Amino acid sequence: METRQFGHRARLALSPALALKADDQAHAARTVWNLLHAWWQMMPKEKRTLADADAAIRQARRDVDFLAVLPAQAAQAVLKTYFQAWKNCWDGRADAPNFKARFRSTLTVDVPQGRDLNIVRVHRRWGMASLPKIGRVRFRWTKDLPVGKQAGKENRITGARLVKDTLGWHIAFRVQTLEKAPETHQGPEVGIDVGITVPLALSDGETYKHGQWLTNREQARLLGLEQRAAQRKKHRKPGERTSRRLHHTYDQIAGLRARAKRRALDWQHKTTTDIARTYSVAVVEALQITSMVKSARGTIEEPGKNVAQKSGLNRSISGQAWGRTVTMLTYKLARQGGTLAKVPAPGTSRRCSACGLTTPGSRETQALFVCKNSDCAWSGNADHNAARNILHLYRMGLALIPAAGRAVARRAPRVKPATAR
Ligand SMILES: [Zn+2]
Repeated sequence: METRQFGHRARLALSPALALKADDQAHAARTVWNLLHAWWQMMPKEKRTLADADAAIRQARRDVDFLAVLPAQAAQAVLKTYFQAWKNCWDGRADAPNFKARFRSTLTVDVPQGRDLNIVRVHRRWGMASLPKIGRVRFRWTKDLPVGKQAGKENRITGARLVKDTLGWHIAFRVQTLEKAPETHQGPEVGIDVGITVPLALSDGETYKHGQWLTNREQARLLGLEQRAAQRKKHRKPGERTSRRLHHTYDQIAGLRARAKRRALDWQHKTTTDIARTYSVAVVEALQITSMVKSARGTIEEPGKNVAQKSGLNRSISGQAWGRTVTMLTYKLARQGGTLAKVPAPGTSRRCSACGLTTPGSRETQALFVCKNSDCAWSGNADHNAARNILHLYRMGLALIPAAGRAVARRAPRVKPATAR
């Protein structure tokens, strides 16, 4: 038996009044974050301690009236998240924390204590939970949660967070369960390549494809909205506030983009689940997180490759989304008793997977690989070839990280993000 911790996100059904309350709390939480960040920048290094920060927050709650809408525990959670954000930065997982702007940050409120939630299932499709200083709310029941009689010391909800996106307020539960440890996966090994002609190419010849994330009609609508927004922005006088209409247009644009993202995410989840069920070991290229976050366009000295394919809404699963694919594969494989392995990337797309030689001109087109070594002359799909190389590297024992648990790409210690780029 082993403990499993995971998140479960459900849609909240809030009345307009309750949604406003949640908005107020989230903006108060955002303000606490901003005050904390200002405090951090002002303080000398040795005074940036948790205790001092806590005292600063308590003082702010006494001084600023509108912070009172935020429950004390949620304010404490902001403090915890802020310090964690710095840890993530120092470990090379993220950039340094920054101020949260009113319109460009995700609204969130923490409910750190699971027992405050008082979750009850009231209907086949609805559950109810108590939110501090908001009240009793309904949420969509789409997964069996350990509540009521099923809850215990090992199986329980340890906390939650409210998150607002383009579809409205959601609640993300933190769930802890005790489950039987998976038996070792008996499936075959597979190499996976992020293709240019296909989104995912596997070493056994299998490919995973997807269509466009937005239909032609939706794309046309998005273009129209973007042009409208640009037009309105152009006619704004300097210093003039963004109009309600423009905000509305921005919301519509964000809505369409979010729809595309949800579809991509759905595809990724289905694909990675399928791979995790079929294969015992998945081998991927070890890519630098920093180079993935970099824009596809690159710099003037080093222009990026395939800029057109990598940018735009209909881009395939590559670049940034690839990091998410790897993360999903890591935990899904672990749950099925399999593992994810990473191998060094260079040359996998140019080397022949049959004879192992890199002969110039072998990659005839984006899609076609024909080995120019006269003794070999293997030919096949270029992405398939790369996937076979990746698997071969793993079988040679070149795996970098026997990734179990979380996929964490680390930079060299003490290298700041800006210099690593
Ligand atoms: Zn060859």
